[in-house]
Amino acid sequence: MEYSIVIPLFNEAESLGVLQERIEQVMRPLSCQYEIIYVNDGSNDNSLERLEELKKKYNNIESISLKSNRGQSAALYVGFKKAQGEWIITMDADCQNPPEEISKLIKEKDGVDFITGIRKKRKDTLLRRISSQTAKAFRYIVLKDTTQDAGCSLKMFKREIVSEIPFFKNFHRFFTFLVRLKGFLVREVYVAHNGREFGKSKYTTFRRAREGFFDLGGVYWLKRRILKYEIERG
Ligand code: UDP
Ligand code: MG
Repeated sequence: MEYSIVIPLFNEAESLGVLQERIEQVMRPLSCQYEIIYVNDGSNDNSLERLEELKKKYNNIESISLKSNRGQSAALYVGFKKAQGEWIITMDADCQNPPEEISKLIKEKDGVDFITGIRKKRKDTLLRRISSQTAKAFRYIVLKDTTQDAGCSLKMFKREIVSEIPFFKNFHRFFTFLVRLKGFLVREVYVAHNGREFGKSKYTTFRRAREGFFDLGGVYWLKRRILKYEIERG
């Protein structure tokens, strides 16, 4: 298996059919082996029923449902553990990350371990964009993290990374930083971004900022304490 596409979702029933078909349009012509792993993070809309319908129509879908809503990071982690592919691709379920951009990531994979998007013309509210820029400044001041767009969910990386980095709630906001910290090679590429056509955002700016500050402290500690070693022999 070459690629596992891992998609966390919480109440995204409306977009799943369109998303799946758009992914197929991109992946099918590549004639490679791939799977799409939907992780239903305790949705209480029709997401589960939609996934069951899609599984009947497409034979490369895996789905896992969490008992209750545990957050995007928990859903991603569960998907990573299930993935069989040599490379894992992540994206949101709401079509804000255009699936067509997967081919761009694939083209950029030579010589690196981790490819992450920079949303070129980000289609989010001004408040969201300002809060992201503020968080980016704080990440640079505290961690010296130079990641251009930590919030872009569209990423592709070697599966071995999963067993090398620490996971915790909201790790996804520091994913690229953690990967670099462990010495993996990262490439950042510009990708398109869409407004939310279906459903609505699961975060408020206040919640993101509050949790972001708390997590920044934790990641600062991790930066200083993470195990770093090179094995010389054996
Ligand atoms: N998500 C999830 N569990 C949550 C919150 C979000 O699985 O508790 C999923 C959500 O369905 C989407 C992705 O994480 O696929 C990103 O969420 P969202 O689009 O709301 O974030 P935004 O684009 O507004 O940053
Ligand atoms: Mg979104």
